[in-house]
Amino acid sequence: MSYDHLPTTNLIGLLTDKETAAKADAAAVRAMENNDQVHLAAIRAKLLRLLNEQGDVRTGPIAREDIGIYTDGVNTFKVQRARSGSHTFALRLVGSEFVFRNGDTKQLTRGAYRKLTRDEAAAYGHQFGRCIVCAADLTDPASVERGMGPVCAQRF
Ligand SMILES: [Zn+2]
Repeated sequence: MSYDHLPTTNLIGLLTDKETAAKADAAAVRAMENNDQVHLAAIRAKLLRLLNEQGDVRTGPIAREDIGIYTDGVNTFKVQRARSGSHTFALRLVGSEFVFRNGDTKQLTRGAYRKLTRDEAAAYGHQFGRCIVCAADLTDPASVERGMGPVCAQRF
């Protein structure tokens, strides 16, 4: 998979190691200000290595196997299959709801998104008392504590 078309700023947003991100960010800004293509290329290469180590970064068209929940740290999308089963599409998380908006599926395929972590999925469950995967209300004490249902938890 190639990330070559991604702007460096998108890649920085994906880093979970804050210290590395801060260093890369400052260096990237300097390189951009100076139009220093050599350093920008080096920064991009380093970020790509970090991204690959994180794994699960999607940048291409949505495929059937991409069913799941993705975030770039700002927007969160759920990829699901259409009822007809013929295609997949993205729903955007707005508050506690996943809503359909024209253009969102395209946005997801253009950005650099990673799969939601178990902790992030649980945080949603704790906040809204609902499973982020299947939208079931969490009533069982174990599910409430876990922040999601037992079956859906196996996905993380
Ligand atoms: Zn569930």
